[in-house]
This record gives sequence, structure tokens and C-alpha cells, in this order.
Amino acid sequence: MCGVVGVLSPGQQAAPIAALGLFALQHRGQESAGIAVSDGDQLMVYKDLGLVAQVLDERRLPSLRGEMAIAHCRYSTTGSTLWENAQPAFRLGPQRAVAVGHNGNLVNTRHLLELLPGRRGRLAGSTDTELLTALLAQEPGDDLVAALLTLLPRVSGAYALVLMDDAHVIGVRDPNGFRPLCLGRLDAGWVLALETPALDIVGAHYVRDVEPGEMVAIDASGLRSHHFAEPSPKLCLFEFVYFSRPDTNLYGQSVHAARQRMGEELARQAPVHADMVMPVPESGIPAAQGFARASGIPYGDGVVKNRYIGRTFIAPTPETRAAGVRLKLNPIRENIAGKRLVVVDDSIVRGTTQLTLTRMLREAGAAEVHLRVTSPPYRWPCFYGMDTGRRPELLAADLQVGEVREYLGVDSLAYLELDRLVAATGSNAESFCTACLSGEYPVPVPDADTKLALEEETVRAPAAAAPEANVRIEP
Ligand code: 5GP
Ligand code: SF4
Ligand code: MG
Repeated sequence: MCGVVGVLSPGQQAAPIAALGLFALQHRGQESAGIAVSDGDQLMVYKDLGLVAQVLDERRLPSLRGEMAIAHCRYSTTGSTLWENAQPAFRLGPQRAVAVGHNGNLVNTRHLLELLPGRRGRLAGSTDTELLTALLAQEPGDDLVAALLTLLPRVSGAYALVLMDDAHVIGVRDPNGFRPLCLGRLDAGWVLALETPALDIVGAHYVRDVEPGEMVAIDASGLRSHHFAEPSPKLCLFEFVYFSRPDTNLYGQSVHAARQRMGEELARQAPVHADMVMPVPESGIPAAQGFARASGIPYGDGVVKNRYIGRTFIAPTPETRAAGVRLKLNPIRENIAGKRLVVVDDSIVRGTTQLTLTRMLREAGAAEVHLRVTSPPYRWPCFYGMDTGRRPELLAADLQVGEVREYLGVDSLAYLELDRLVAATGSNAESFCTACLSGEYPVPVPDADTKLALEEETVRAPAAAAPEANVRIEP
């Protein structure tokens, strides 16, 4: 995951607007945050490890001047948690200075590396975004839009991009539109954002989605749209299930309402006699509401979530992940003891959350635990930007539903069927990527591990080139 924002705001500083928008996308990445600003002359990048509010605080923002900005918060997929991998990525090439914020994951990095002459040691960080930025900086000609139109057809994988030079703010969505990207209007100016709540929070009104295979280039003279590839929309189905905020709109639908419908569908598909429906907070809440509504079983809270700790999902070992779940969730004993519970969650990936939670509920005296999940078994790794681990780490990879039930120690288990899940989104199956559930990858993934390829190239790379005349990179 990752959050991206782009702003062009004539007559107003862009950095505070971009930072506010990025704050609304904090859920998409908590490792690092950064911004690139330009006053039309100087392009400056500031980024650091940490949360948006820590990195782009009120002492920092006034020094980031200009009417153009792009901003990014990062959740590591390709590349580890290092300052060098924070974004926006920046390159001063022979032709241009360019800054790039990327959400997604490219799948042909080995091929792209071959396009970079004398490539060993040339990348500052170990991400596919660094590579893309280096390639852009070396494209001939002085027009960033033209450079993108040449380069993008050679890039495959998932990308929602915001880019900037000293004249343009640009938004791009890959031809499959794996990740969302939307366009909003300020009184004077434009905003690009990964999810619609970022527009709401900065007071921009939603204009439209950037289309799959479209690039929008915004400059002082206005907005131009370029279609660089035939669109074949395959929005990540997990944007509806888990990743996006509930107040986001996708394909013209409210994500919150769609999640409630998923819960209703689940109640119809796999009914059960029980005393209380409880969510696994926070992602399971709307679906548990839907399940309760459709089943008539009262909704209640079984666990409290500590809001001040980050995600447990990417902690490195199963033990630290399980400890993380205990830190994050604590049972409300009096709501649980003696009750037959329906526990609603959005997904089971490695199974850590459910295994730990089920034990917790049993210890708190639950009479029965019936697990209901609003997505089908997660069996295939994602190569398009979600770090869900390799196949052996996925609990359902080689297990039947009954075996998963036994492993988790629940009394019953049901996963929402794919066609019911899709129906709940209000769109059709063709418009989604479902690869992690179906094994059908819309963009072929190479056998070679792209993540490894990049780390091999860059592991001992020297630090980024010294900043030059009209450019400042601040550590
Ligand atoms: P597990 O504990 O089974 O490995 O992960 C599933 C839980 O992690 C769910 O509660 C889900 O809300 C949450 N989660 C966190 N990050 C991700 C992600 O990248 N993908 C999915 N599908 N679930 C995630
Ligand atoms: Fe989304 Fe799964 Fe496709 Fe990855 S593989 S883009 S998580 S639907
Ligand atoms: Mg969850």
C-alpha cells in the first residue's frame, strides 16, 4: 500500500494542502512520509521515517514553499524500511529534475533495470520507484509528459503515480487501474489523491477518477489528459474489502455501504444460531453491522482495539505478530462470557489475528466462536503492491476450509463466496483483480522475484548524488 497526493494551487502554498490530504491517507502507510514542492524554479524534497504528522509538522511546513506539491506515505512492499526508500523519489538527470510518489508494485523490474545503462550502484534506494525515477530522469527531451508517454508503455505492474517537475503536477494510473486515483477541484487549482477522503479533508470537490491507462498533467495553463494505453479495469478487490477507508468511494459506491452488504450476504450464505455478532475492529465493523442486521442477532463489542499502535501485520515473525495482536486487541469479558459469538473479520491471511483472538475469546469464557470472513480463502500471493507474504505463509494456500477451521479452533467457519462479494460491491467480476483469491493474475508475473532483483542491484550502492545548484534534498 501507500498513499499519494498531488496539488497545484495557484495563489496558495501547496505543501499544507498536500500534507493535510496525506494525513487522510495515513492508514495506507506508516513507515515514512515525504513531500516534494516547487515554486516553479527550485524543486525540493523533504522526507523521513515516521508518521505524516511527525514528518510534516507545523514547524517544517512553512519552509516548504511553492504552488505545486506531491506527497507520499509509505508501506514497504519492494525494498526495506530505510530513509533511502522513503518517497517522493527524486532524480536530477541530464534532462530534468523529477520527483515521484508511487503506490503499487512493478512486475518487470529486471527488464527495466536493463534500460538503465551502467546500472549497478546507480540507484539510491532499493525500490521499483527509484528505478522508475532514474529511467524518467534519463529520457531525452525536456518535456516530462513526453518522457512519460515514452516510458510508461514499457512498464508493467501496478502503479498509481503522482509526479512533479518544476512545471507540472502529474497523475498516472496503470492500464488496469489496480489502485484508485481521483481528481478534485479547489476554488483555484487541482488535487490528485489516492482515496476520496483526502479531497474532502482539503475542501476539494470530487471531479472524477483518473482512468486506467490515463495520465493527467496539470500546469499553469490547466489540465490535459493523455491516454497512453488501452484501459482494462482491474481494481484490486481488496480495496473494497480492507485497504480503503470506509468513507472512500470506489466505482461510484460507498465502501462502508459495500462492506455492510458483504456482512448481510455472509449472514444469508452461512447463517448460525448465536447470541452476539462482534467485529474484529476496525476493519470488521461495517460487515458485522450488516451481519447483525440481516440475521437479527444483536451486535456487540467483544474486544477493544488500542488505537495508538500501528499495524501488526508486517511485523517480521509469527511470534512478534501474535504478541502484536495481544497488544492491539483486548477482550471485554462481561460481553463474552457464556455467549455464542459470531466473529466477523474481513480476511484471513496468515491466520495470526484469528488464532490469537480465538484463544483470547475462549479464555474470556466464550461458549462458541463462529468465524465469518467477508472474503474467500486467500491462497495466492499479491504481486501488485500488497505485502501479504509468499505462498507458504498464506494459511489457506494448501488447506481446505475444514482444515483452517480446525487449525484456528473455531466452532464454525465460513468465507464469503466470490460472486456474493463482488455483488456486494455493486460492480461486476470483470472489473476486479481477484488474483490472491482466484490465482488468475491480470498481468503476468515473472518467475524471478522482482524484490530480490532490486536488492541485489542496490545493496551496496553509494549514497545518492550530491544535491546540485537548483535542487535541495534534505536528509
Ligand atoms: P492475518 O492475521 O490472518 O495474517 O491477517 C488478516 C488480518 O490482518 C485481518 O484482520 C486484516 O484486517 C488485517 N490486514 C492487515 N494488513 C492486511 C493486508 O495487507 N491484506 C489483508 N488481506 N489483510 C490485512
Ligand atoms: Fe488486490 Fe489481491 Fe489483486 Fe493484490 S492480488 S491487487 S491484493 S486483489
Ligand atoms: Mg483486521
